[in-house]
Amino acid sequence: MKYFIGNWKMFGIPGSIKIVDRINNFLNKDKKNNKKYKTIIAPPHTLLQNFSHKFKNKKISISAQNCFHKDYFGAHTGSISAFMIKRLGVNYVIIGHSENRASGETDYIIKEKVFSALKNNLNIIFCIGENRLEKRKKLTLKVLKKQIVNVLKKNYNLKKIIIAYEPVWSIGTGKVPKPDELQKIVILIKKFLKSHFKNKHNFKILYGGSVDNKSIGNFKLIKELDGFLIGGASKSSKKFIDIIRNFYK
Ligand code: PEP
Repeated sequence: MKYFIGNWKMFGIPGSIKIVDRINNFLNKDKKNNKKYKTIIAPPHTLLQNFSHKFKNKKISISAQNCFHKDYFGAHTGSISAFMIKRLGVNYVIIGHSENRASGETDYIIKEKVFSALKNNLNIIFCIGENRLEKRKKLTLKVLKKQIVNVLKKNYNLKKIIIAYEPVWSIGTGKVPKPDELQKIVILIKKFLKSHFKNKHNFKILYGGSVDNKSIGNFKLIKELDGFLIGGASKSSKKFIDIIRNFYK
């Protein structure tokens, strides 16, 4: 099963529901392939309740983009807990996105977020990725391992966690890794996860970073990849649908 996950970031108003509607209609019609993949859209918090209500029991699922790192309720102005997200009927949350890491989110906070999301029975899309300097210094694998070890604990329910490998230098830049480079990294991450977690779980690994209807062609031959986290291109139903179409072409 492949994943196509759209991260809308800070975009979208109530009327944007028509984008999700069009994607869901496409999924219903795509009888040839629609059992081979799962589609999830992560709108901003303001749209979660409406979208999760409208697409309850539909092919498409809805995800939150983030959650607070502790508590059900509390004096945390502007924050939303995993408990509150789950009560909207939402079953997924993105945690550890590099845009949040860049504004100060540490591995410790990310670990607490994952713990809180698991406590509330949410599925987690856990983002990891090296920045340009780390790549240049050939530290990619070291960085990824550290991000994993600092956050995922051996006693966590690992089945609820999907890992999204998102090189920071690729997000929103139009730059993508070479397919053989990406394949090598995905294989090495999977190998590390197997040994670190003693084969307890076969993790799914997604790629994210400037995926669009053209770059998807570079990735479809990487059989170790379990799907894609798509930012910019997920705000247009046409672009998002074309990514899925081109993947299965
Ligand atoms: C993202 O923000 O997770 C992402 C992958 O963005 P983009 O596709 O725009 O690079």
